[in-house]
Amino acid sequence: MLDTASKAFFHTLAGSRALKTLASRYGMRKPTSFARRFIAGETIQEAIEAARVVETRGMSETLDLLGESVSNLEEADVATRAYLRVIDAITAAGIGRHLSLKLTQLGLDVDKATAVDNLRKILERTEPAGFFVRLDMENSPYTEVTLDIFETLWRQGYRQLGIVLQAALYRSEEDLRRMNTLGAQVRLVKGAYKEPKSVAYARKADVDDAFARMTKALLLTGTSPALATHDPKMIEVARSYAREHQVAADRFEFQMLYGVRRDLQVALTRAGYRVRIYIPFGREWFPYFMRRLGERPANVLFVVRSVFGETG
Ligand SMILES: Cc1cc2nc3c(=O)[nH]c(=O)nc-3n(C[C@H](O)[C@H](O)[C@H](O)COP(=O)(O)OP(=O)(O)OC[C@H]3O[C@@H](n4cnc5c(N)ncnc54)[C@H](O)[C@@H]3O)c2cc1C
Repeated sequence: MLDTASKAFFHTLAGSRALKTLASRYGMRKPTSFARRFIAGETIQEAIEAARVVETRGMSETLDLLGESVSNLEEADVATRAYLRVIDAITAAGIGRHLSLKLTQLGLDVDKATAVDNLRKILERTEPAGFFVRLDMENSPYTEVTLDIFETLWRQGYRQLGIVLQAALYRSEEDLRRMNTLGAQVRLVKGAYKEPKSVAYARKADVDDAFARMTKALLLTGTSPALATHDPKMIEVARSYAREHQVAADRFEFQMLYGVRRDLQVALTRAGYRVRIYIPFGREWFPYFMRRLGERPANVLFVVRSVFGETG
């Protein structure tokens, strides 16, 4: 319940222009500023530096150029071209070739066909260069269209492309079967968005149960599944189920967010598991940042302390 209330509260705050202006002013300006806890920086160079640190610690990464819900085709085009530059920068830097992106960033809200074209432009650059591209999953009005676009591109032969399913949604276990039938690579998450009871479990315990069931299904029948969670209980479910069913540690990976449970990231790597860190960067960091606060209201204290530390 608290979980739903907190997500709803931060969802409302995320819509505040005044707060966004204030946060943008203080959130990134110094190396110690509060948004840097969860966001690598505003530039690709800062993201590449963060990726290098991750790689020296024995982990891999996926880079996310932040941005979502663009409201016109020019913005979608700007975002697409920015992604193309990111691809070139990653290639030149020689770091891992793995991206995450959102379809509303490519214009899905404005025109579906243009968003697909934009995605295709990105894939035309990434596929020959050996990149993997993950389509992040946004809130439930986008679930079906995201899966549809994914399937269309899959049928057109794009194979270095993966999808995300959210355990919070009632429909996801069925979607998991749909994706497993294709042989698609799934990232499993609990779900970051405030959703109505008509489509999603309201109780955290129910979300956790669904996550555990889907973890088991992915370990047995999935293709290189990614279990994206910081929840020690869910991680233990995966570890013991994999052990019991002789699923080797290199057949799946854990994924965690930049700046979240760094202790667990290191511990899992040391225990011999593959761990990939989701590294977000870019100027449009506010909605992403607010979702992270909504997941763990204690993070607000950390922000408040850091703001007073800076201005005092
Ligand atoms: C790699 C990756 C990709 C993701 N992609 C998507 C996506 O495409 N679509 C989507 O809807 N969601 C996505 N998410 C977010 C996800 O849905 C959850 O909202 C988020 O991971 C928190 O859930 P949890 O599984 O960590 O469990 P929770 O039960 O929420 O948290 C378990 C524990 O993890 C720690 N923790 C969790 N969140 C935070 C935080 N923000 N700050 C500090 N500690 C925290 C706390 O110790 C907490 O007790 C992604 C998450 C990851 C790790």
